[in-house]
Amino acid sequence: KKITIAIDGFSSTGKSTVAKQLAKHLGYVYVDSGAMYRAVTYFAMQHNYISSEAFDVEALVEKLDDITISFQFNSDKGFAEVYLNGKNIEHDIRTLEVSKFVSKVAAIPEVRYLLVKQQQKMGQDKGVVMDGRDIGTVVFPNAELKIFMTASAQTRAQRRFDELIERGDEVEFDEVLKNVQERDYIDSHREDSPLIKAADATEIDNSHLTREEQFAKVLHIATI
Ligand code: C5P
Repeated sequence: KKITIAIDGFSSTGKSTVAKQLAKHLGYVYVDSGAMYRAVTYFAMQHNYISSEAFDVEALVEKLDDITISFQFNSDKGFAEVYLNGKNIEHDIRTLEVSKFVSKVAAIPEVRYLLVKQQQKMGQDKGVVMDGRDIGTVVFPNAELKIFMTASAQTRAQRRFDELIERGDEVEFDEVLKNVQERDYIDSHREDSPLIKAADATEIDNSHLTREEQFAKVLHIATI
């Protein structure tokens, strides 16, 4: 019988890696809820509602109806990529620039309301692994399996830095570390569904675990 799996935690804890592995292993659908918040942020940046000089929440909220987010499975990559109004934006939303604004956008109640509804729809048939910040607490409070991933800020920033360098982005480690810490702070202090561990989630600290060890641990929990 198919179940719902919620994987939450701070930024760059390796949630998506585990979630993708798990979905593949179980033949489930993987949904990256963070990609949806990034898509809205990218939209807002494109329309100049958000920049280092501006943060026009009202204008963005007014245009939320113009945003259609969808996922399409890419068989080469083995996971679903995110599309904004029909355009593949999987690569564009992973920049440090988007990361700098995304937590502020994710703190807007209207944005959360809209995306949570869409996420619940995507998971209505079970057989879904979704990762994010509020999946086990708000989106799927009845998920049969909840995992909460943690790792030291240093470890997480290093992973994110390596990813950005691999993409060819020009970034400084300190800037990435600062962004990870800032997002942690905003995500766990916002008024609307702040990032907290669900009472019934199993916590995994993967600061010192390899991908394989981490996955073995999750599988063990999943099949208990
Ligand atoms: O998972 P990722 O780091 O790509 O998420 C980007 C941002 O989106 C997070 O820092 C957080 O502000 C927001 N987010 C959220 N709720 C989720 C998923 C992501 O608020 N379920």
